[in-house]
Amino acid sequence: MITTKDIRNKYVKNYPSAFCPGCGDGMVLNAMSRAVEKSGIDQKKVAAVSGIGCAAWIPSPYWKVDTLHTTHGRAIPHATGLKVGNKDLEVMVVSGDGDCAGIGGNHLLHAARNNIDLNVLMINNGLYAMTGGQVAPTTEHGEKTLTTPYGNPSQGIDICNVVKHSGASHVARWTTYHMNELIKEIERTIDIKGFSFIEVLSQCPTRTGKKEGLSGVEMLEWYRENTTKNKEEEGIYVGEIQYVERTELTEEIYEQISKRGGKPR
Ligand code: SF4
Repeated sequence: MITTKDIRNKYVKNYPSAFCPGCGDGMVLNAMSRAVEKSGIDQKKVAAVSGIGCAAWIPSPYWKVDTLHTTHGRAIPHATGLKVGNKDLEVMVVSGDGDCAGIGGNHLLHAARNNIDLNVLMINNGLYAMTGGQVAPTTEHGEKTLTTPYGNPSQGIDICNVVKHSGASHVARWTTYHMNELIKEIERTIDIKGFSFIEVLSQCPTRTGKKEGLSGVEMLEWYRENTTKNKEEEGIYVGEIQYVERTELTEEIYEQISKRGGKPR
């Protein structure tokens, strides 16, 4: 049986951690590593793409797969090029909420519409953490942040709903409290042909925790108490939000190349 130490040695580079104590990002790295291990996929066939922000550090520099660390909000277009040029690669995008739903929001919509076979993990801590805790599109109405000291006057976006209605094959939401479910969901995305999007609610004890007077553990307890797996109940729904089979972009492109007598790679 593979041990925690084996997982660490096989998947995590031995660099000093840049994450603050109690941050959820290390937990997501753990979940991604365990999911790839459980899936049985060859680690050399996995590539991870990230943009800018604390969550972007999860794969790069820490994950032992091929990685592309790109510019702010542009992880998805880089991942799209990687997938279209190398259709057998399992391409994962790891991105924070500011990076993915804010600066890269337009790319997210179109990748979901195209249903390209990418696995996107959006790590949502509800603000721009790395740059000091500014308001993000995911910040809830009334929340105080560095740039909304009297409370956010805008509404937070339900990004899973947006991605679902943009045409993604697979959409789900979990939190860092739900580690076993998160590992299973990431493992599942590896088999899904089409655009997979998992929103991971994740604690930022440095920006949100200090402001609310909560430790990392207390933030995990908040997720436990405020989420539900029952759509009929009050609370933040966690679980699968959508699964549909749809035409996938890369396969369609390769088919068209073949029809024109070309030779796909
Ligand atoms: S600022 Fe927040 S999200 Fe960034 S590493 Fe620290 S705890 Fe994690």
